[in-house]
Amino acid sequence: MTLSSPPGPSPKTSERYRAFHREVQKTFGERIFRITINTGLTCPNIDGTRAKGGCTFCQDASYLGLSFQEGLSVEKQLQTGMEYVRTRHQTGRFFAYFQNGTNTHAPVPVLKKIYNQTLANSNIAGLMIGTRADCLGPEVLDLLEELNGRTYLWMELGLQSHKNDVLKRINRAHTAGEFESAAKNLDKRKIKVCAHVILGLPGETPADTIDKARFINQLPVAGIKIHNLVVFKKTALEKQYREGTIALQDLKTYASACTDFLEHLRPDIMVQRLNAHGPREITVAPDWSINKMATMNAIHDELEKRDAWQGKKLGYEINALTS
Ligand code: SF4
Repeated sequence: MTLSSPPGPSPKTSERYRAFHREVQKTFGERIFRITINTGLTCPNIDGTRAKGGCTFCQDASYLGLSFQEGLSVEKQLQTGMEYVRTRHQTGRFFAYFQNGTNTHAPVPVLKKIYNQTLANSNIAGLMIGTRADCLGPEVLDLLEELNGRTYLWMELGLQSHKNDVLKRINRAHTAGEFESAAKNLDKRKIKVCAHVILGLPGETPADTIDKARFINQLPVAGIKIHNLVVFKKTALEKQYREGTIALQDLKTYASACTDFLEHLRPDIMVQRLNAHGPREITVAPDWSINKMATMNAIHDELEKRDAWQGKKLGYEINALTS
């Protein structure tokens, strides 16, 4: 007689991928909120150092955190951000998140001052620094290595696409090879890399979604932020969208692409984000992107429906996500 074991409890949706908030809870023993800090630094893809015009989707205003007002010092932004979060949540420590602009695009003494000022605040548990692959020269890497020895550091590195023709089309002004070198250089110094990707870029096919996960898998990447494509006002993408030269995914297609991507992603990679959204006032399309909760629900529903999990198509069991 064959005995079949009763079905176990089905995993919660957030356990179908290695959710960053769970990893933070394990490391710090508490929930830690991000505070967005604006350094006022620009970008080599905007100021002409590398190119002009910026990425076609870039609308820096969409990244401004609630703590940012033009000209506020880092200390003031930290204080305002902490006060705001504490009106809603009981929390002690925070990550300082340098999101908009390219936050290593300045002379090293300038960068040193910004990050030292931030770490001088005893409530800061770590730094998350957004930058580009072409702004990580040896002196910057030396500084980051030193910071990494003092705090919990993540470098947030935009890849967006693994295909150079697509990167050209979105005016990214760097190649996939440059991303690869930058990720390897950071890893040599034991600095954690969080890769940013956009699914459904113009010129990409459904097969490219899976190839993009494969590209990430062979690199020393420890975290990922997965985004849908959003058209913001006053961007080159807005013009293309209004002229009808680009198409956007609907929510169902994005949820399916996101699930495909996760199924092909290494299970040790921490998933830090699954959507992109901006304020309604500056969002042109798609409408569904404004509702973050609905986007998350659609992805979670798709994971449940397929009984899918991160790394499943690579042959990993679901318990690889908790080991
Ligand atoms: S690299 Fe970042 S900041 Fe620079 S143009 Fe592109 S999206 Fe904007």
